[in-house]
Amino acid sequence: KRGLYLVGTPIGNLEDITLRALRVLKSADVILSEDTRHSGKLLHHYNIRTPLLSYHKFNESQREQQVLRRLKEGEIVVLISDAGTPGISDPGPCAVVAALSASGLDTDEFTFVGFLSKHGPSRRERLTASANEARTQIFYVPPHKFSQFLEESSLLFGDSRRCVMAREMTKIHEEFWRGTLGEAKVRFLNQQLKGEMTLLIEGRTNCLVETPSEDQLEHELGELISR
Ligand code: SAM
Repeated sequence: KRGLYLVGTPIGNLEDITLRALRVLKSADVILSEDTRHSGKLLHHYNIRTPLLSYHKFNESQREQQVLRRLKEGEIVVLISDAGTPGISDPGPCAVVAALSASGLDTDEFTFVGFLSKHGPSRRERLTASANEARTQIFYVPPHKFSQFLEESSLLFGDSRRCVMAREMTKIHEEFWRGTLGEAKVRFLNQQLKGEMTLLIEGRTNCLVETPSEDQLEHELGELISR
């Protein structure tokens, strides 16, 4: 399928690559790499002859139009880094890293929160702490809890905070939905979503925080918890 692929490559041993990564690298029209000499070794090892184009922080703005044009023309473009996952230093495949890498949110610093406790004060405390953090916040959210999570997080983070919902990554029904928490509520509230979900919320610095008053919070969260 055409489009832009972010492909994780080995951090050392060249055999630590997935079969799908090899297939995508082989079938691509062009591979964007940080250091073409470095990536050339990997491609050579697997006898992959796809053209390499350098793409790094010093030329990415220059390259942008060229890459967008290729994508519009229906090419398969692959982005790799020297080692590991693009946008993130090193880690291999796991849900949190895959979601962050493809999210478009700030990857420099992030907090992996994972699953929240089910009820009560510790859940709220954790979310409140997250709402005040400048780093990208990453949660694992069971599908049947997604509506509740959206209501709680939009209250504490504010409706205007950007978020990304990564669902069923690498599977048939993969979906990356991007918008604000307010828009996510309009789109997803009270829907029975299926599958595995990772939700990312941008850190606090990039937006205005609409902190609700304590009374308002007590009231609205009280209602949610009692449901
Ligand atoms: N340690 C593993 C990892 O990070 O890939 C599994 C994490 S945890 C036990 C399972 C949770 O990870 C799911 O409830 C979901 O939130 C997230 N997850 C796992 N696979 C996913 C996928 N394909 N797409 C989106 N989220 C996924």
